[in-house]
Amino acid sequence: MPVSPNAIIWKTLLGACSIHGNIEMAELVKARLAEMDPDNSGDHVLLSNVYAVAGKWKDVSSIRRTMTEHSMKKTPGWSMIEIDKVIYGFVAGEKPNEVTEEAHEKLREIMLRLRTEAGYAPQLRSVLHDIEEEEKEDSVSKHSEKLAAAFGIAKLPKGRILRIVKNLRVCGDCHTVMKLISKVYQVEIIVRDRSRFHSFKDGFCSCRDYW
Ligand code: ZN
Ligand code: ZN
Repeated sequence: MPVSPNAIIWKTLLGACSIHGNIEMAELVKARLAEMDPDNSGDHVLLSNVYAVAGKWKDVSSIRRTMTEHSMKKTPGWSMIEIDKVIYGFVAGEKPNEVTEEAHEKLREIMLRLRTEAGYAPQLRSVLHDIEEEEKEDSVSKHSEKLAAAFGIAKLPKGRILRIVKNLRVCGDCHTVMKLISKVYQVEIIVRDRSRFHSFKDGFCSCRDYW
């Protein structure tokens, strides 16, 4: 690289290690990040996922212990979507209200369609090892960006782009679901997550699955 990498670049590489299960590189990257941003719980979670995928449970629990000792809190996930100049927010673990109930209902219908028409199956990895820092979202099916997208599908007329902002990295399962929604519902979805923009169209994402 012509410039020296900042924390965001290292985090992106750590995310890629987590997707590809590259432990050796993940440990190197994590060491660099520890110097730059020692208390970032997201980095610890990503590294622990790399270990979890490789079945290294001892390493997983040692990271979890470090996080508890340093009382690092996981950040609750939230997403926002703009619909006709009104911003709707979805927060992990919030009490149900009119908007979230409508979103949940639409999401159930969408997931059914994705299962039957696009062969979707939830990524258990994301469920078991919380691929991202969403502590309060017990199951990937409730991640806030899925609710925001479902609400957008319910409210926006066909042909309009869904614009979503998410405070954390999109997890693997949500990423797959966004790709499938863009294909099955023929809709373009743009998600700005903590590391980058994702533009989902026709079953593909502009990040080419690197984020
Ligand atoms: Zn997710
Ligand atoms: Zn993407």
